[in-house]
Amino acid sequence: MAASNTRTLPKIALGRTGRQITRYGLGGFHQVEISSEIVEQVIDAYLANGGNYIETARSYGRGASEEKIGRALEGRRDQVVLCTKTGAKTAEDARRELEQSLQALRTDHVEFCLFHGIGEGELDTITAKGGALEGLQKAVDEGLIGGLAMSSHWPPVYLEAFDRLPLSMILIWCNYLDNLNFPIIPDEIIPEARRRGIGVTAMKPLADGYLYRSVEAAVRYSLGAGAEVIICGTNSVEQVNEVAAAVRKGPADEAMRQEIHRDAVDLGRYVCRQCGECPSALMEAFRLEGVFDRQMIDYLTHDPADYALRVRLAHWFGGRERAAGLFAAAGYDAGELIAAAARVECPYSIDVERKARIATAKLTDQKVNLV
Ligand code: SF4
Repeated sequence: MAASNTRTLPKIALGRTGRQITRYGLGGFHQVEISSEIVEQVIDAYLANGGNYIETARSYGRGASEEKIGRALEGRRDQVVLCTKTGAKTAEDARRELEQSLQALRTDHVEFCLFHGIGEGELDTITAKGGALEGLQKAVDEGLIGGLAMSSHWPPVYLEAFDRLPLSMILIWCNYLDNLNFPIIPDEIIPEARRRGIGVTAMKPLADGYLYRSVEAAVRYSLGAGAEVIICGTNSVEQVNEVAAAVRKGPADEAMRQEIHRDAVDLGRYVCRQCGECPSALMEAFRLEGVFDRQMIDYLTHDPADYALRVRLAHWFGGRERAAGLFAAAGYDAGELIAAAARVECPYSIDVERKARIATAKLTDQKVNLV
């Protein structure tokens, strides 16, 4: 299929890695769901657009993504910075997975290998004697890996990892829905990574597909919110070209990001913009609702496709129990929060009292009682 041949994707120096990376990286997760033939077309289109960064993981389709990407890159491996990930926790398992990855990708090295989806408390295992860090560090010394990196689905893990892992870069989600659910990402994690010279690549710029109606705004928002490179898991040539065109338009500046917060159809009149008008306890309750279900379940009418997507994505990060536990530990009184909400006039036209009823019911495992 014909692809754009402009080769003009902007590049950026990724942290202090010394590598010039195109600001659009191709994600490997969605290569699992398409045939090898389409993967080849997607990679053709990505390279024709000038892209030079492809990432995947051993666990994506139990190696299927790596195999398809490896096949598609045959003879042109040197055109891209190639990354994979391992979820292994021991040195032995990490080494075995890395060797499987290299074989599937048909290469003798990857530029980066990520500790994949590090969970709370797992850094102790990874950094212990005989842990995965030991195995991957040895592979770095042997030239099989250019640098180490990480991803996690619980943001505070990044802050802990900065002092415990020798990171060249991180992969973290950054989009205009989840930056409101997890403000720790734009407020603390990304600035701290950049202060340390750790590269910042951003997964989920379209919030796992939820922002599909707003591709240009989502891509530009992510680039403007601190992501050096967005990793977008496109699965068609058309999507590659659409994302590349958005990246070429450049990062959203502060005014455009505010405009997106104000007008985005995807945020509507339910997602809290964390504007500061509510008392801090109420804002924290809405943040915890973001952890609970990404503020996806709003008890409003949606068309069937939108509703199905919301339900599917609501608990993607598995935060229900964690959010409820944090809410209980904070000792908030649901009645007081609802009473406080009734006094707030939201500049984003959110019915704050109604939202407080919903959020507190979710976080206390009560039936949602709307009047
Ligand atoms: S006023 Fe609206 S946007 Fe601002 S903190 Fe309250 S609910 Fe969120």
